[in-house]
Amino acid sequence: MCGIFGVTHNKDASYLTYLGLHALQHRGQEAAGIVSTGGESCLRAVASGLVDEGIKPEILKDLTGDFAVGHTRYSTSGGSLERNAQPLMAYNTPVGELAIAHNGNIPGYKEMRASLQHKGALFYSESDTEVLLVAIVQEIQRVHARRKKVTPRLLAYCINRALASIEGSYSLLLLMPDYLVAVRDPGGVRPLTMGRFNDGYVFASETNAFDLIGAQVEREVKAGEILVAPRKGKVQSFALKPKHASSKAGSLPCVFELVYFARPDSVVFSQDVYRARREMGRRLAEEAPVPGADCVMAVPDSASVQALGYAQCLGLPLEAGLVRSHYIGRTFIAPKQTIRDFAARLKFNPVRGLLQGKKVVVIDDSIVRGTTSKKIIRLIREIGGAKEVHMRVASPPIAWPCFYGIDMPTRKELIASGHSVEEIQKFLGVDSLKYLSLEGMLAAAGGNQDSFCHACFSGRYRIAQEAVKKSLAEEARG
Ligand code: AMP
Repeated sequence: MCGIFGVTHNKDASYLTYLGLHALQHRGQEAAGIVSTGGESCLRAVASGLVDEGIKPEILKDLTGDFAVGHTRYSTSGGSLERNAQPLMAYNTPVGELAIAHNGNIPGYKEMRASLQHKGALFYSESDTEVLLVAIVQEIQRVHARRKKVTPRLLAYCINRALASIEGSYSLLLLMPDYLVAVRDPGGVRPLTMGRFNDGYVFASETNAFDLIGAQVEREVKAGEILVAPRKGKVQSFALKPKHASSKAGSLPCVFELVYFARPDSVVFSQDVYRARREMGRRLAEEAPVPGADCVMAVPDSASVQALGYAQCLGLPLEAGLVRSHYIGRTFIAPKQTIRDFAARLKFNPVRGLLQGKKVVVIDDSIVRGTTSKKIIRLIREIGGAKEVHMRVASPPIAWPCFYGIDMPTRKELIASGHSVEEIQKFLGVDSLKYLSLEGMLAAAGGNQDSFCHACFSGRYRIAQEAVKKSLAEEARG
């Protein structure tokens, strides 16, 4: 999963992008990067790790120019090597240097890469994004050979031709000396919103990035839309005209953005994430109440809003039964096993004075492998002293991997793909376990079975079906 941000017509473009990436840090922590331009060449800085670990003030000061794009990376295709960090660049193209920042995933990219390599293309990274970049540059080169001036319309024509046959999910920002271009795939799987900031445009995966810099939300980039923001003149909208089977599926925003991924202070897919999550909690309370419970608590921080909705609906007290440390790093590397065993305790500590002897309802947004949940439940019982622990999950069981941009383990590692709810309840060591229904979750998100992608819950893959089938078969063979 990734976050993307872009800005035009602002002398502080790279600083604003840095701030925007901070707001999108939750969407990817493996690497961060910014490319800026003042109308001639493009300047690039990428680094592994968090935004403020890799992009220092002395680097930012060199990223001059009034147009910029940035990216926070969480790898779904290609590894976490620094050469896969984005924005990726193409040099010496007819439109000058061209940078691309991508949120999404292209399931069949390896075959596409092989076919482009067969025709002589060279690849620098392992990432699916480079396939999109090469395809776009090839179209620009082909058209430029006949028509010298690359106008917004011609640029959109090239992007459309390059992407028309590529199935997958992509919210893209492309930067060239004279243009910033935003594109969303025909399914609109990943979010992307356009805003206004002073005399320029801003683009971001989530609107919380606009709040941070004081930009105004204009509208979502539509599914299947190419928006070209030129250096001179207004933004122009063009339509992507896909020529593949997936396009028949229509608009399929990812419901997991609303369940877990996006921040609750954002609007994605024109939906208020906070309201959707509170409604998921409320519906969960209606579907699966716990009679006689003393209190409700969330697994912090991702399930806080759902727990609020659950508690409000049943008139139960909402308590903060787990305290989360905000100071531990992403990985805890200890040389001795005896010390490593404390790692789970580093992140969460239960509040004994609250939980002792209580019948508690623990709300989580989702269960993936079940391993974190198991450790948390043990803490609540053994350290917190709770008498009964009832787990309620504000989404259905995740039984299928995501091929459209969420980093999910394989089927074998997803606890719900090989185990019943009763078996999971036993594994977690809870007194009862219930999940929100698929219908309940989709209704809370403001849609239904046809208006969202819910493949990780239902196994209903409607995009790049052939490539997904192949990947699932490969995964099953191990
Ligand atoms: P587990 O108990 O190992 O299944 O972990 C469940 C927790 O992981 C939940 O609290 C979710 O908030 C969180 N989660 C859900 N999806 C993801 C994801 N794709 N990457 C990282 N964490 C996730």
